[in-house]
Amino acid sequence: MFKNLQREISRLANTTSISVPLESDADGFYDKECPDEKCLFQFKIYGDDWTNIVRDEEVFCPSCRHVAPATSWYTRKQVEEAREYALNSIKSGINSAMRADAAESKRRQQRNSFLSITLEVKGGHDVALLPIAAAEPMRLRTTCEACQCRYSYVGAAFFCPSCGKNSASHTFAQTLATIRTAANIGESLRASLNADDAEVMTRTLLEKAMQDTVMSFQRLCEQLYETKSGPKARRNAFQNLEAGSELWAQTIGSSYAQLIDTVTLQKLTMYFQQRHLLAHQQGIVDADYISRSGDASYATGQRLIIRPNAVLEFADFIEKLGQQLIARC
Ligand SMILES: [Zn+2]
Ligand SMILES: [Zn+2]
Repeated sequence: MFKNLQREISRLANTTSISVPLESDADGFYDKECPDEKCLFQFKIYGDDWTNIVRDEEVFCPSCRHVAPATSWYTRKQVEEAREYALNSIKSGINSAMRADAAESKRRQQRNSFLSITLEVKGGHDVALLPIAAAEPMRLRTTCEACQCRYSYVGAAFFCPSCGKNSASHTFAQTLATIRTAANIGESLRASLNADDAEVMTRTLLEKAMQDTVMSFQRLCEQLYETKSGPKARRNAFQNLEAGSELWAQTIGSSYAQLIDTVTLQKLTMYFQQRHLLAHQQGIVDADYISRSGDASYATGQRLIIRPNAVLEFADFIEKLGQQLIARC
């Protein structure tokens, strides 16, 4: 009486893999995610380029340059959805086998009345992957100058996922443009979301923009420094204005104080300190912040409030300093 179910179970016992369809976005890009737990940076690669240009053995994270084989770059969301898809396809196989058994048992009952078991089969999920949302306005699309791989991301990233080339100076200005877009997006969020969600989302984007601005400058400096001096700079040296300034003084003979005016440098110092708080202290002001930034507008224990104007000013000032460095390298 469980003939179909038994057949389905033995079929499942021999199943070692279930292939799960992945959907690209409307423009043919696929979501990817850095497998490094510390990074988890999300980006997209154009489908044809993923197939034809990217090599199976190594793919590079555009943000942290972590290297892993092509099979390691599924996003957590894709993995979760794939798991659900696989479970659902197993469930629906079992459900339809049980339905077939139930139908047979009914037929047999009519011929042979001493079987009185009736199978009630309920449930069964629709198997569907949610379509991946269309490209956001802050997304930066770029094509690697070296290998022509097309990829996109939101925020700050500079390594080609296919060949690992650092294209920092190429994307520095573009990245700042997307950061400026993020700074101005509050209005349209308020128009399309409810007030609370819009508020949370706007705040998150502004704080992310502060961090991305530092990151974009850091990557630019790392590339310029390596080209100019040979060896790589100490990890995260350019996240710190003083340490970075010192490295440049040794390499090109100019510190930041010699490249930009005092007011700009003071503001940059404050914004770098704010990024530090956002990245490491959940944005809560401490005594270190007040003494290092010279920002007297906060008391210890308060939370930073990032305004769109601050993000825009930060982007302008960092661009000024970045252009000075590009000109000298
Ligand atoms: Zn990464
Ligand atoms: Zn490339």
